[in-house]
Amino acid sequence: MYKQQLRPLIQNWSGILQFRPQNLFFPSSLEEIISIVKSAKGKKIRVIGSCHSWPPLIETEEIVISLKNFQGIEHLDKEKRQATVRAGTQLRYLGHLLYTHGLAMENLGDIDEQSIAGAISTGTHGTGQSFGIIATQVIEITLITAKGEIVTCSNEKEPNLFKAAQVSLGTLGIIALVKLQLVPAYNLECIKSKENFETCLSKVDQYRNQHRNYEFFWFPYSDIVCNKFLNLTDKQPENKPIKKFLVDVVYENGVFKLASEVARIFPNFSPSISQLGAKGISVQKEVHYSHKIYASSRLVRFNEMEYALPAEKGPQAMRELKAWIEKNQIQVHFPVEYRYTKGDDIWLSPAYERDSCFIAVHMYKGMPYQKYFEGVEEILLSYQGRPHWGKLHTQKAEYLSQVYPKLKEFLSWRQSLDPEQIFLNSYLKELLGV
Ligand SMILES: Cc1cc2nc3c(=O)[nH]c(=O)nc-3n(C[C@H](O)[C@H](O)[C@H](O)COP(=O)(O)OP(=O)(O)OC[C@H]3O[C@@H](n4cnc5c(N)ncnc54)[C@H](O)[C@@H]3O)c2cc1C
Repeated sequence: MYKQQLRPLIQNWSGILQFRPQNLFFPSSLEEIISIVKSAKGKKIRVIGSCHSWPPLIETEEIVISLKNFQGIEHLDKEKRQATVRAGTQLRYLGHLLYTHGLAMENLGDIDEQSIAGAISTGTHGTGQSFGIIATQVIEITLITAKGEIVTCSNEKEPNLFKAAQVSLGTLGIIALVKLQLVPAYNLECIKSKENFETCLSKVDQYRNQHRNYEFFWFPYSDIVCNKFLNLTDKQPENKPIKKFLVDVVYENGVFKLASEVARIFPNFSPSISQLGAKGISVQKEVHYSHKIYASSRLVRFNEMEYALPAEKGPQAMRELKAWIEKNQIQVHFPVEYRYTKGDDIWLSPAYERDSCFIAVHMYKGMPYQKYFEGVEEILLSYQGRPHWGKLHTQKAEYLSQVYPKLKEFLSWRQSLDPEQIFLNSYLKELLGV
């Protein structure tokens, strides 16, 4: 029988979302998931992954299901390089499992704490103009519907449902299994370097064409960006755990945490702290297995908003954003992150039918973020921006239906699979206009 907790406290990664559902269930098999759904008797159900999203997507007072006891590879086809994975599998664990079979995911985001189902459900992405969001690596999804039935969809079987299910915010049902198209395991060399803001913007097209994965971080109140390039290599990882610990944990996180506390208590110091951070960037090189190199340690907690814009609009939007922050003296010391992804055909993907550039702003946990995020949001909306579903934003159905042309079709599938709306909470209803 599955484990359960009564009225547990559930909170997201930054602590901005907290709630206590009546029940939290931990099923460990398909049969147990089905049995929970069938015995829910109309109560609201939300599924959680690693709770790394900011908006109240997972909130309910009734039933929460965690698939953390439902992890691992269900089936592997080495010849086709395809794996059917249990939906609760954490990306870090998945990367390790695949590596032991000589396989890897073709691209990942900048942390690996998420569950595979949670990551795809909000349109999580990495960077690299030749790669789509993570959900584009999915070739089949198995859902448990509100009736407790098993439905499988792919490009061949129920293709429209599949396009809805690849990014679904957990509103179609419970994703139980995810089949992934993989690639042979590979190593990447990561190079980080410092550059002038304008020089960088004039070269971003060259960078995104020349490098497998390209992104940059701009430090507010400075003219400095930190470029990050990842490229395939035959070199082998160097085993330097002490140096890595000093750079990642002590310098990148420990010193930054201290500086962030100073900024929280004395917000006026934020610009100077950002400038100091920019000065501290040094050229860094590292080689590692792909699944080890995409993710960075994120030990300093923050709140975040991110938008996808048409790729070619990125530099112009960044210039506007920089000028706005400086003009309005926004007290922020976290860098702004800038990435690219390839367009796709997934109905609720922020990169739906357009190659995209993603711009993300962050504010240290405990510092007010509303004025900053609202101002930046206004700029990004003027470029027909689409919000990242898993990050903070203020958009609702009226705007979303303009920038997500398939929202109506998505909702019609949703309604047919879940007419009693057990997989919707009040936030989702308002968001999607149900
Ligand atoms: C530090 C940090 C770094 C991040 N970096 C990136 C990044 O590089 N790129 C990026 O795009 N995003 C990034 N994110 C956002 C993050 O990837 C998404 O919010 C992601 O959805 C979180 O996955 P999760 O497993 O925690 O899911 P949760 O946040 O727990 O859930 C997210 C959604 O998925 C649904 N869900 C989860 N499991 C299932 C299931 N089995 N069936 C149906 N629905 C399900 C939930 O109901 C919810 O709607 C980052 C977040 C943090 C906190």
